Amino acid sequence: MASLYEDSIALIDEIKEYLSGYPHIVFEKLKEPDRIITVKFPVKLKDGVTILTGYRVQHNSVRGPYKGGIRFSPMVTLDEVMSLAFWMSLKTAVADIPYGGAKGGVVVDTKKLDEQELEAVSRAYIRAIFDVIGPQKDIPAPDMYTTEQVMEWMVDEYSKIKKEFTPAVITGKPIKIGGSQGRKEATGLGGFYILEQLVRDYDLKDPTIAVQGFGNVGYHFAKFAHEQGYKIVAVSDSQGGVYNKEGLDIEYLYEIKQETGSVINATRYDPITNKELLELDVDILVPAALEGVINKENAKNIKAKFIIELANGPLTKEADTILDEHNVIVVPDILANSGGVVVSYFEWLQNIRSEVWSKDTVFEKLKLKITRSYQDVKKTADKYKVSLRKASYILAVKRIADIMLKKL
Ligand code: NAD
Repeated sequence: MASLYEDSIALIDEIKEYLSGYPHIVFEKLKEPDRIITVKFPVKLKDGVTILTGYRVQHNSVRGPYKGGIRFSPMVTLDEVMSLAFWMSLKTAVADIPYGGAKGGVVVDTKKLDEQELEAVSRAYIRAIFDVIGPQKDIPAPDMYTTEQVMEWMVDEYSKIKKEFTPAVITGKPIKIGGSQGRKEATGLGGFYILEQLVRDYDLKDPTIAVQGFGNVGYHFAKFAHEQGYKIVAVSDSQGGVYNKEGLDIEYLYEIKQETGSVINATRYDPITNKELLELDVDILVPAALEGVINKENAKNIKAKFIIELANGPLTKEADTILDEHNVIVVPDILANSGGVVVSYFEWLQNIRSEVWSKDTVFEKLKLKITRSYQDVKKTADKYKVSLRKASYILAVKRIADIMLKKL
């Protein structure tokens, strides 16, 4: 079986034919990360000192400093971190922001750590990768199981070693230490702006929407869509979901989730499993939870005509091929969930320019940026008669290659 990384880079070969003017070496270089760093670092936990494994993969930096989140999970593998770093290079290029791509991870189960231990792990990881990060070198951010608080500890550790308060080294920080207004909402809101483009381009009338995942991204997407009158008929979290064909009250579900830990306790609505949610007869499906949830087992059962990928990699390569054959329009993750990295870029800009922007300013700039990216991808798709995923790869690789060639 091909690794996730092999699957991820396979698309590079599939789009080569649309970029025939570029030398072979450009495509080969994009298949190889610039640098793979594995660190083994000691951390003092309750039961004694243990040695943890962490990674930082710096995929490409021809367009600017490396940029990408840090994931804490017992499931983290180098293969996964390499794929996520590769997608970040493409995502920053599609968004047309002056960054490259990177990703980091630590193999650790945060559910087994108390707060003091989580702080110790966060600080120790930064000490281990200190030499390779910096505001003009590589700028980490949160990802799965790393929070604003984790970012605050990381900035503090970096600043202590540097002997200089350096907020621009990390984005996704709390506002009190230089975080940006609107970062929390950014990915979901970006997804909502994409929804508005789809509705316009494909002339969708009162589309029905199902959202898998009710965390930061899924909730904010559903909230903005609901506020604008869209009908969200199903949402779910790791425990299951709820359905109502007349539409769900998103704020009510948010309260239930806050109070009880899951949307399944919203007894006002019908229960639904995650499997059923993905296969619902809706117009638009929004996977906003995990990787690989739509795969060769269930792809042929998907009835939605549009998919907005707010999670990273929710469709496997096989599923993508099946859905493409069935003419399902898929807005790929590297475009659909780029709102987060765009507002991270705004945060970094505010830090290095000593500015503070209002939430309205952030939202307005995000709307302009993501709408432009969508339109660039759509134009590319129409020009080459390819899927939005292929088009976004063509656009990203072209943008990276144009600069790479100048530097060769
Ligand atoms: P989160 O931890 O806040 O929320 C994840 C949600 O998924 C939770 O509601 C959880 O219950 C649900 N979930 C977990 N397992 C599930 C399962 N088996 N079935 C259904 N739901 C399940 O995370 P998030 O920040 O919302 O991120 C969600 C996805 O979006 C991830 O793939 C992440 O990489 C991607 N993403 C996030 C951002 C960001 O800014 N937060 C940016 C880009 C991409």
